[in-house]
Amino acid sequence: MYDIIILGSGPAGLTAAIYCARANKKTLIIAGDTLGGQTAEIANLENFPGYMGSGMDWIQSTLKQATGFGAEIVYASATDIKWDNDFNYTIICDNGKTYNASAVIMGTGARARRLEIQGAKELLGQGVSYCATCDGFFYSGKKVLVIGGGNSALNDALYLADLAKEVQIIYRKSSFTRAEAIIRDRVAARKNITPVFNTELTAIRKKEDSETGELVAVTTTGDEIVCDGIFVAIGHEANTDYLDESIKRDDVGRIESSSLPNGLFVAGDEKSGIKMQVATAVGSGCSAAMDAISYVNTKGN
Ligand code: NAP
Repeated sequence: MYDIIILGSGPAGLTAAIYCARANKKTLIIAGDTLGGQTAEIANLENFPGYMGSGMDWIQSTLKQATGFGAEIVYASATDIKWDNDFNYTIICDNGKTYNASAVIMGTGARARRLEIQGAKELLGQGVSYCATCDGFFYSGKKVLVIGGGNSALNDALYLADLAKEVQIIYRKSSFTRAEAIIRDRVAARKNITPVFNTELTAIRKKEDSETGELVAVTTTGDEIVCDGIFVAIGHEANTDYLDESIKRDDVGRIESSSLPNGLFVAGDEKSGIKMQVATAVGSGCSAAMDAISYVNTKGN
């Protein structure tokens, strides 16, 4: 039996783990299948105070801090959360095991929203990708498309522009006003990035007879763009599928904290209303941990 179980190993979960373990609470991090969530995919984390470097390095060092204070970690994903009348929690995981705790902090974050057009699913891993930092290397010297117009899409385009010969950003609106000015300026300064505004894709297919596995992206205007890879960055949806309907969620699946039972807390990108930033995830992980610690202390009396 743990005092506090934390779901997720991104900035929210790991910050919560530091606070809980340091408060001498028996703490378990249920990390997900891989460490760090979306932060692990950030090539250059440059807006977290006091740190500039890779997201994965930051995650690993934060995990070391948490385990240094005694937090345990298991790599598995929660498939269900149950609680009894005394609000004792059981987490059921996809590794076939269950874990029990007095309190639970959910910090499972968000995942990339999928592009729902013909060919996008079928060609995933064969030219279509949701992770520029993971797959960008394979497109060195090639032509790629980035789909989307937010900070993620523009950051992906910048990352890819260092590798690829040509990057086109396909965006359905007429300017990148959604993205931060500093990122927009960097994109504008790159000669090998071209925005294609007022355009959406309707289908993706393999180019017939292409020896290098090129793709054809069909646009709303009927144009066909030949490219080597397509990187999709069209926003995020919360990872909250493991919860039942008793927990209220907003239209993108993020949890309304007012709907939570005693002893269940939420932090990070899966919390309704939060700005999706590493810094805000850290703050909300800290806050959830302090609430959980205080709750466990009171429950124990
Ligand atoms: P986002 O801000 O929600 O932007 C998603 C983009 O995808 C929008 O431009 C949207 O178009 C477009 N889109 C959505 N559905 C689409 C579809 N079906 N087809 C084509 N385009 C579609 O998502 P994000 O860029 O992933 O950012 C998420 C959060 O993380 C934001 O709060 C962002 O600031 C933050 N973030 C911050 C940084 C940073 O601080 N450096 C880096 C990355 C992300 P519309 O504009 O027309 O809606």
